[in-house]
Amino acid sequence: MANKQSTAQTNQAESNSSGLEISNLKIWFDTPSGPLRAVDNVSLSVNKGEIVALVGESGSGKSVTSLAALKLINTPPGRFVSGSITLNGQNILAMTEQELESVRGTSAAMLFQNPRGSLDPSFTIQEAFQETLSRHQPGLSPKECREYIETGLRQVGFNDWERVAASYPHQLSGGMCQRVALAITFACNPDLLIADEPTTALDVGIQAKVLFLLRKLNIEHDLPILLITHDFGVVRAIAHRVVVMYAGHIQEEGPVDAVLCNPQHPYTRSLIKSVPDDVGNDDVLYQIPGTPPDLVNPPAGCRFADRCELAVKRCREELPELRALAEDRTARCHLIDLSENKV
Ligand code: ADP
Ligand code: MG
Repeated sequence: MANKQSTAQTNQAESNSSGLEISNLKIWFDTPSGPLRAVDNVSLSVNKGEIVALVGESGSGKSVTSLAALKLINTPPGRFVSGSITLNGQNILAMTEQELESVRGTSAAMLFQNPRGSLDPSFTIQEAFQETLSRHQPGLSPKECREYIETGLRQVGFNDWERVAASYPHQLSGGMCQRVALAITFACNPDLLIADEPTTALDVGIQAKVLFLLRKLNIEHDLPILLITHDFGVVRAIAHRVVVMYAGHIQEEGPVDAVLCNPQHPYTRSLIKSVPDDVGNDDVLYQIPGTPPDLVNPPAGCRFADRCELAVKRCREELPELRALAEDRTARCHLIDLSENKV
C-alpha cells in the first residue's frame, strides 16, 4: 500500500480514470531488414470490474501489447515509438524504473502461460510467498505473513494449504502451480491483472478451475483483467469484452456476446470458424488460408486483405480506419456497411 501511495504522489495523475488505458500505442522491434511494427496504433481500455479478452493468431501482437502496458519492452531490439499508457490515471511511461518496480507486482500483476517458469524451483511455495510479501508488504510479522499465505492458498482452493506451502514447485502439478502463482499474485492486492494465456498449458478440468478463480476474483474485488488468449471458449466463459488483434492492428472490438454471435470483421469470422465445435463434429477443421503479412514491410491496405475471401481492390490499397459501429462496437473493414452493420 505504501508503495502505491508514494508512486501516486510522485507521479501526478493524468486523469481520473480507473483501470488500464492504452492509446495509440506503437511498439517496434529493430531488425536487420528494418523496424518490425509489432503493435501499430493500438488503443484499448480495461475498466474497473471488467474482463477484456485480447484474441488473435500467434504473432498478432497480444503479448507485446501486454508487456508494453507495464513498460516491460524498453530494451533493444524493442522500442516504444509513440502512444500513452495510464493505470488508474497514472502515466506509466513517465515513471522511473524504481516507480515501475513498485507498480509491477503490486498495482499491476502478471500471470503467464507457464506457471513453473514464474516459480523459483529452489524455493518452497511458502518461501516464494514470503519473498513476494517482503518486497510488496514489508513489515509484516511472521504470524501475519502466515495468515496471508493461508488466506491466499485457501482462496485458490487449497484446503490442504499447509502441505502445498511446504512443497517445491516440482512436487505440484502444472494446474496447482498456476493456482499458486495466482495466489501469490493476489497477495499483493493488485489493481489490475494481466494474464497471458494463463490456461493454455493446462488440461481442460484444471483450465475450468483457473478460469472460475479469475472470474471469482474479478467479481469479489472488482478487479480489471486483461486476458490474452487464442481460445474463444475461454473468451465466452469469462470475458465481458473482446478485442481482436491481427498483424499489430486491432481489427474488431465489442461486447463478447455481440462479437461472437454476430462478428463483423472477416478476420473475426475466420477465427471463430476455425474453432473446433464443442462436440468434436468437425470433419475437417477450418484453417484460415495463407499466412500473416511481413510486419517489416506491411501491406499498404488492410493487413488481412491477402487472406480475406471478400477483399476488393480498395482493401489492398487503402488502410481501413477502425470505425464505430452500433452496440459499443468498432471494426476495421472497408466492406462493413454502416447503415446495416454488415459486411
Ligand atoms: P502474440 O502474443 O500475439 O502471439 P507477440 O506479441 O509475441 O505475438 O509478437 C508480435 C510480433 O512481434 C511478432 O511478429 C513477433 O515475431 C514480434 N516480436 C516479439 N518479440 C520480439 C523480439 N524480441 N524481437 C523481434 N521481434 C519480436
Ligand atoms: Mg503471446
